[in-house]
Amino acid sequence: MRIDTALGWAISQLEGGESPSVDAKVLLAHILNQSQTYLFTWPDKTLSPQQQQQFEHAVKERQAGKPVAYIIGQRDFWTLSLGTSPHTLIPRPDTEVLVERALAWLQQPSQSHLNHELEICDLGTGTGAIALSLAAELPKCRVIGVDFLDEAVHLATSNAKRNSITNATFIQSDWFSALDGYKFDAIVSNPPYIETTSPYLLEGDVRFEPSSALTSGVDGLDDIRHIIHSAPSFLKASGMLAFEHGFDQAEQVQQLLRQAGFIDVVSYKDYGGNDRVTLGQISG
Ligand code: GLN
Repeated sequence: MRIDTALGWAISQLEGGESPSVDAKVLLAHILNQSQTYLFTWPDKTLSPQQQQQFEHAVKERQAGKPVAYIIGQRDFWTLSLGTSPHTLIPRPDTEVLVERALAWLQQPSQSHLNHELEICDLGTGTGAIALSLAAELPKCRVIGVDFLDEAVHLATSNAKRNSITNATFIQSDWFSALDGYKFDAIVSNPPYIETTSPYLLEGDVRFEPSSALTSGVDGLDDIRHIIHSAPSFLKASGMLAFEHGFDQAEQVQQLLRQAGFIDVVSYKDYGGNDRVTLGQISG
């Protein structure tokens, strides 16, 4: 089968899905181990019988709703290429807002004299997306990513190697449970924050993602409450705590942070215009 025929076939199979054309191209480029440009440059090249079989299998999986990032085992985030696994959340573009805001805080002039020794913690690191992005941008900092799941710790560690990042390490920890004695300049987290009964969980990619990475009690805030309550003991004076949270949770997260003694609490919008990230600083 030719490349253009294969793409046409796949797009028709994926009709009615979220993004038939993009999905078909990403899957075929991955199976051929080529860029998407290659597909347009060489439309008349033919797939080997094995490639065709792999492509048909991948399209069938996508038809059944499986996220593309799980089918190809990879997702780009920030400047990085990250391996994915069904044990962890697929990195989302909106999470880059958390990376941007954390970076802006860490790079402000009042921090710069410390820049060589900043210590950063990413709670619930999953693929390592946030930890590795910060580590890549701030090569003199030390980043520790923790996750409750061993599988995530292994995946994040392999993602560090994959991107040649040497200033991030990953350990198994249930939030702060393995971090006794640590004090960080900044703690960042994209914890689970969806309400357990949310209808949103019944559609699209989230159906295939682990609920441990998505849901957190009836109002979605159980883990955020726990982290805010514990974080002050793990922050240096004037240290910062920043979360990604639900589109309608900014006000509650701000309130929880202020109640726990955080100041300069501020929220930022995601690419869809929703308040998605909230940051606070513990008083010095
Ligand atoms: N942002 C994710 C979503 O809306 C949820 C991830 C999370 O709970 N941290 O699908």
